[in-house]
Amino acid sequence: MDRVVYGSELSQELRLGMKAEIDALVEQNLRVPNLAVVLVGNHPASLSYVTGKTKACDAIGMDSSLIHLDADCTMDELLAVIDGLNKDDGVDGILVQLPLPKHLDEIVVIQAIDPSKDVDGLHPLNIGRFYSGLDCMVPCTPLGVMEILKKMDCDLVGKNAVVLGRSKLVGTPVARLLQNANATVTVCHSKTKDLKEVCKQADILVVAIGQPKMIDASYVKEGAFVVDVGIHRVDGKLCGDVDFDSVLPHVSKITPVPKGVGPMTICMLLKNTLKAYRGKFHG
Ligand code: NDP
Repeated sequence: MDRVVYGSELSQELRLGMKAEIDALVEQNLRVPNLAVVLVGNHPASLSYVTGKTKACDAIGMDSSLIHLDADCTMDELLAVIDGLNKDDGVDGILVQLPLPKHLDEIVVIQAIDPSKDVDGLHPLNIGRFYSGLDCMVPCTPLGVMEILKKMDCDLVGKNAVVLGRSKLVGTPVARLLQNANATVTVCHSKTKDLKEVCKQADILVVAIGQPKMIDASYVKEGAFVVDVGIHRVDGKLCGDVDFDSVLPHVSKITPVPKGVGPMTICMLLKNTLKAYRGKFHG
């Protein structure tokens, strides 16, 4: 049904464009972009995420390397790896898969990454540039949400956008991007009063609360555009924060889970790596 906008399809379209750009570099005998992924330990979900990321690089002809460290590696060992990658001109993007084992300080690790290679957009310098309206690495999931809204042909100017969730990684940057696009933005969280009433005013509803299927039709304005960022496994099946079947008849457009925002997040990681690569040549 064309009310459903698949991030998996959109990401395929965008990846084709990136592949063409990389193919052109190969034809000119130029170096192709390179993403370094650092994984500490053997957490099964993290292992599967990093494999997904390096496979996505391969599929568009981008180089990638996986640096896999033991779960008990020290902070000094990890920082030495990052320092090496920072200094390596053949590496454009560095991603440290989170979460890290508890004995490693994530904030220190993120701050050790060269901001120009910080393709997750988590370095404080990138965050500062983002909220100052300057060019920077923007976190991948929020970028993916904005690409989906573009694909939905959703006119954001002057519209009421409600973002459910205020995390640093998703809700807050999504709200800023929507504001930059001239939507009128409300951010909701666990202490918001009359959540349903606020959501019912939303022309655009972006849901990132980490609560399986909580948002049903009673939260949704007729004709709204709904983007579901949540991802959960319930009884062996993947679902989002939105009760898709309940909401679908009432929306203009909606993303499903799976095949919604998830594939866009990886796609935006590739886009940020290309941006980091281009930055080397154009300043
Ligand atoms: P967090 O847990 O960091 O943040 C959740 C936010 O939702 C918080 O601001 C919290 O409020 C708010 N919240 C929680 N419960 C409620 C409620 N009942 N009513 C209103 N607000 C509520 O999650 P993330 O932002 O990291 O992730 C959100 C979801 O998106 C998760 O399911 C996650 O797995 C998924 N995700 C998916 C990605 C993808 O690529 N598809 C990438 C990243 C995340 P408060 O601040 O008051 O605690």
